[in-house]
Amino acid sequence: MLSGKHPMDSLIASDRIPANASGERLSIEQLWQLLDEVKDPEVPAISVVELGVVRSIEWQDDTLHVCVTPTYSGCPATELIEQMIQSALEQAGLRQFQLETRLAPAWTTDWITPAGREKLREFGIAPPQGSASKLSLMGHSEIIECPHCGSQQTEQVSEFGSTACKALYRCRDCLEPFDYFKCI
Ligand SMILES: [Zn+2]
Repeated sequence: MLSGKHPMDSLIASDRIPANASGERLSIEQLWQLLDEVKDPEVPAISVVELGVVRSIEWQDDTLHVCVTPTYSGCPATELIEQMIQSALEQAGLRQFQLETRLAPAWTTDWITPAGREKLREFGIAPPQGSASKLSLMGHSEIIECPHCGSQQTEQVSEFGSTACKALYRCRDCLEPFDYFKCI
C-alpha cells in the first residue's frame, strides 16, 4: 500500500525528453483525446479520462500541466496510471510537462462519465450506482444490479474483488460472480 505522499513528490519534471525541433503544440482538446487513449490498468475497458482521474489539462506558458486525482489512496494502480499518462505524453512528443497529483477534493465514483459507466457494465463490472454520498447514507443496504442479467438479487461475497477497489458479488439468478466498483 502506498502511503499518502506529499503532492510535491508527484511533480515529475520531464527534462529527460529530447528536444524536438518541430514540436507543435497540441490543443487542449487534442490532449484530452490523447489521454482518453490511456486505459485504466485495472479495467482496460475504460480510460483514465472516463474514470475521471484526469482533472485538468492546461498550458502554462510552454509547459503542459496535467492534474491527476488518484481513485483511491493506496490503490496500486495510481502510480501506474501516472506512468502511463507520462508515457502517452512523451510518445506524443511533448517534452515539457508536469504531472501533478491533487488529493483534494478526493476522487469519487461520481466522476466516472456516463460513457465510462456503460463500458464498465459491458466489461462485466457493476458500475457505481447513485452518488457516493447517497450510498454512504444507505450503508450496505444498497441494491447492486447484476451486470450480466440485470437481476437485483445479488449478494456480496467478499469485500474485496479482483482488486481492493472492487467488491466481489454474486448474482442469485444467473449465479455469475462479478466485481462491483465500490463507491467512495
Ligand atoms: Zn445475473
